[in-house]
Amino acid sequence: MITVEIVDKWMELFYLKVSEQKAYLSELDTPIGDGDHGNNMMRGMQGVKDSLDKLTKPDLKTTFKTIAMALISKVGGAAGPLYGTAFLEMAKKCDETQAPVELFSYALEGIKKRGGATVGDKTMIDVWAPVVDILEKSSLSVEQIREAANGTKDLVAKKGRASYLGERSVGHLDPGAVSSQYLFESFIEAGG
Ligand code: ADP
Ligand code: MG
Ligand code: MG
Repeated sequence: MITVEIVDKWMELFYLKVSEQKAYLSELDTPIGDGDHGNNMMRGMQGVKDSLDKLTKPDLKTTFKTIAMALISKVGGAAGPLYGTAFLEMAKKCDETQAPVELFSYALEGIKKRGGATVGDKTMIDVWAPVVDILEKSSLSVEQIREAANGTKDLVAKKGRASYLGERSVGHLDPGAVSSQYLFESFIEAGG
């Protein structure tokens, strides 16, 4: 079950991973995008950290909502509103359920609806969807998450900036899939 303590730890670990991998995430976004994904995510996670620090004893809903708002307002790129939507959906549903599989499933539906992409389009969805599928059957491992992110290398981009390249996007990892990999690795490390 997801708790405020787990989410706090989760965001702290994700913030650290984004800080460490900022240059790499922007590097991934250079051949198939505009080279800003690491910087965008860093700005977003700095915003998340700052706004969570200001809260005193928030409940789970407030915590998710605060994360969502920081991501939507600070990230700038396409990924911001999509990650933001994911956390907003979790805020909406967390009174009903605190099960990771259910909350991530609502989040995934939100990302799909907001961005109009689906599985196989070479986006963050290609990590979020397998994560939900795996959690429906068993527990999630770091290897499975990495495998999903690595799988975006062979895909042709159908949405976002990378889609402008068409077939030439093949052979490159999707930056948003890799940042989502870090998000779920952090979730596991946080004890989620
Ligand atoms: P921008 O492309 O505006 O510079 P970012 O570089 O921060 O934004 O984020 C790019 C990432 O966003 C992509 O690698 C992809 O994973 C994700 N993305 C872009 N468009 C979509 C979409 N329509 N649906 C899901 N994910 C998307
Ligand atoms: Mg970009
Ligand atoms: Mg951009």
